[in-house]
Amino acid sequence: MPIRLYDTARRAIVPFEPPPLVRMYVCGITPYDSTHLGHAATYLTYDVLIRRLEELGHEVALVRNVTDVDDSILPKARQLGVNYLELADAEMARFRSDMEALGMRPPLSEPRATEAVPQIVDLVQKLLDNGHAYRADGSVYFDISTFPAYGQLSHYSRDEMVRIAAERGGRPDDPAKRDALDFTLWQRSAPDEPAWDAPFGPGRPGWHIECSAMCLAAHGRTLDLHGGGTDLIFPHHESEIAQSTSITGEPLARHWMHSAMVAYDGEKMSKSLGNLVFVSDLLKVADARAIRLALLRHHYRAGFEWFDTDLDEGRALLRRLLAAADCGSDPKFAGGADPRPFAERVRAALDEDLDVPRALDALDDLASAILSGGDHREAPAELLELANLVGVDLTVAARTG
Ligand SMILES: [Zn+2]
Repeated sequence: MPIRLYDTARRAIVPFEPPPLVRMYVCGITPYDSTHLGHAATYLTYDVLIRRLEELGHEVALVRNVTDVDDSILPKARQLGVNYLELADAEMARFRSDMEALGMRPPLSEPRATEAVPQIVDLVQKLLDNGHAYRADGSVYFDISTFPAYGQLSHYSRDEMVRIAAERGGRPDDPAKRDALDFTLWQRSAPDEPAWDAPFGPGRPGWHIECSAMCLAAHGRTLDLHGGGTDLIFPHHESEIAQSTSITGEPLARHWMHSAMVAYDGEKMSKSLGNLVFVSDLLKVADARAIRLALLRHHYRAGFEWFDTDLDEGRALLRRLLAAADCGSDPKFAGGADPRPFAERVRAALDEDLDVPRALDALDDLASAILSGGDHREAPAELLELANLVGVDLTVAARTG
């Protein structure tokens, strides 16, 4: 049975059909604040998918970019009185250490937008040359009237797109635009902002073109899977498609996978609302595997609200799994139940739209079946292997908390 995954563009769970080398691009962070649980939940989704693809014999080339110049990092650096690249370096180091603590393997590459400026300038020039972009007031905009498929990913109506673009920094009321939905490819820098020379005037890149450039540079024309949080579907990914396809004439990605948002205190966790739960704070009080399990107990497409009790449930599950795994090193252990049906359940759950909660239920059941006895001495070793598939290493003793 092939892996099946929900595809945002097709709005259905479809066979993913991975090639031997899976080219994957997941939008990374803007490094201006610490890693919160929403980031962790998103990147965990792809981490588990990659582990399962590798088990099936595929190689996965994950590229996760760093948006180190955009409309959010510059004001934050100004407010802190530091250079934006220093802020990016410091936050990237914290992000990497949080991700590593949660057991996430590093991506193959982490391109930074500021290092991709020559490629970005090249793409903007190509879009000007082929009539998909225009210059106005020192900036360059994408002309959405030249791309009728705009909206094919999000399936939003025009009114919805205008409203959501306004909420997400798209400035539909910018008077320099011909159409409210036209978006910035290159913008004139404010006097205290960084600027790069370009044939169409000095400035800095728009957010969406950064990812088109880094995707194309890393993976070529059509990648196998493009991911990110659901808040990136529009306008970010919709605009990436418009730019990339207007240049290459080919689809940007074969499959679009998005992970849902995490709420806290009744609202989506976001910087602007200030309702963030930081991974680094939880790591001070809990075993990283308990945090990982607590997050993975929610399906990646089901948005959820984080409660402190989530962590308790993650801890309890970790304790049960560790207790069963420990039987393997107990000389008096006679055996547990046959692990094969549980292993089948774990893999079947992962292969059906990455249903990690159902996979964890099967792991939990296997742990009980080991503790209740039987004649399968290999059962604890099988549990260790299956837990690795969701990125939980049961060979290390529990940390207090
Ligand atoms: Zn992106």
